Amino acid sequence: MKIDKYDLEVFTPPCEPGAERFSALARLTIDISEALPYLNATLRGAVYHLRANALTWKKGGHNIAFHAYEIATSNVEDREGAEKELKGLIDLVNRTWERRDEITPSYETRQRPTPMAVYQLLPRTNCKRCGEPTCWTFALKLVASQKKITDCPPLFEKQFNEKLSELQSLVIEAPSIG
Ligand code: SF4
Repeated sequence: MKIDKYDLEVFTPPCEPGAERFSALARLTIDISEALPYLNATLRGAVYHLRANALTWKKGGHNIAFHAYEIATSNVEDREGAEKELKGLIDLVNRTWERRDEITPSYETRQRPTPMAVYQLLPRTNCKRCGEPTCWTFALKLVASQKKITDCPPLFEKQFNEKLSELQSLVIEAPSIG
């Protein structure tokens, strides 16, 4: 199973005219269903839907979905970025499938943490060192994979050791797909 042929479409969703956000969709000529449990095992933060035969993932605020014959990304800032990301996702599927002998497939459906669960573990001082106006905004962005735990320097102070390790087990950050 290797994706080498597909139709690529980049568009602005009709429900968001003028939103200046782009979606990209690759229509595949092969079924990638068998690759989804391997992606689920290796893509941290992904949510696998066994019955729907789909895997969803958030990366940098972009919404990514893998289906049997389709791969899609949405909420991307520009047309070129959407196209580039989709090509990166196709490479990711191909690389994961090539490495499948080294991976134990996972059929588990993991839940994303809620922003409130994340917020409770932050220092909650609204110090703005992360570049966000409040810890709540930071929590929202952390859950959406738009921020990383390391973006909050106070968390690495001694008094927050316990909260930091809880947060690290709760928030599973997405790896780069290049
Ligand atoms: S750096 Fe951390 S403590 Fe400061 S506002 Fe951001 S999330 Fe809150």
